[in-house]
Amino acid sequence: TYIVNDACIACKYTDCVEVCPVDCFYEGENMLVIHPDECIDCGVCEPECPADAIRPDTEPDTEQWVEFNRKYSEIW
Ligand code: SF4
Repeated sequence: TYIVNDACIACKYTDCVEVCPVDCFYEGENMLVIHPDECIDCGVCEPECPADAIRPDTEPDTEQWVEFNRKYSEIW
């Protein structure tokens, strides 16, 4: 799965949301999040992000962000 990290905060672009084939982006409190169970790992959103805030969860130290993305995509 892919996750959004804090580099997204205050970013006004939603290019990532538009390209996602399964619509798994949600609006968190002040940034976008990805529902980790709905993401199909296609990777098309990653190059669209101007803030480089979308990262695969295979990178180190992304575990807290997976939980954060899950939490905020289920609240709203
Ligand atoms: Fe959507 Fe694909 Fe990005 Fe997952 S990797 S959030 S399915 S565009």
